[in-house]
Amino acid sequence: ARDYNVVVLGSGGVGKSCLTAQFVQNVWIESYDPTIEDSYRKHIRINNRHAVLEILDTAGTDQFTAFRELYIRQGHGFLLVFSITSMSSLRELYDIYEEIITQKRDNRFPMVLVGNKADLEDDRVVDKSIGFRLSREWGIPYYETSARRRTNVHEVFAEVTARMMDR
Ligand code: GDP
Ligand code: MG
Repeated sequence: ARDYNVVVLGSGGVGKSCLTAQFVQNVWIESYDPTIEDSYRKHIRINNRHAVLEILDTAGTDQFTAFRELYIRQGHGFLLVFSITSMSSLRELYDIYEEIITQKRDNRFPMVLVGNKADLEDDRVVDKSIGFRLSREWGIPYYETSARRRTNVHEVFAEVTARMMDR
């Protein structure tokens, strides 16, 4: 099976570690050390095609330094994660998206826009239509996830994997 590097990017607190833990280990971790940055290997099968994902759960301030350039260089696919409870977390993805397409010189690079914390409907500030509009503009899929309830968690990793496989 081929190895693919998947990089999980987004502001602190949006749920990158919780999504990764749910996907890799099937566990809900209420409180994850926000400074921990680690990578995890996970086998995935899509329509009888096999892949091994090397998932980098990025953390904190590193994202805003030269490290980000390195992650992007090594990434074969990206999850761009925000929280539906934070408009600023969505805005912070604009720069990340631009950086990816600029560095990769490809505006169809495998990426998925992920609106996490969909279980917190009462605290929603980013309307679904905003997520879908941005995803259309960027030409990438949009999913709303809940790491807490494990909703669409497998789906976002499967979607980015399918796109990496098709390249
Ligand atoms: P990271 O900084 O992006 O890695 O964010 P974490 O994964 O550490 O999550 C930050 C906080 O958000 C933690 O308190 C989590 O319990 C909470 N959280 C993460 N995902 C969800 C979710 O889908 N729903 C809810 N309600 N809380 C979440
Ligand atoms: Mg984290």
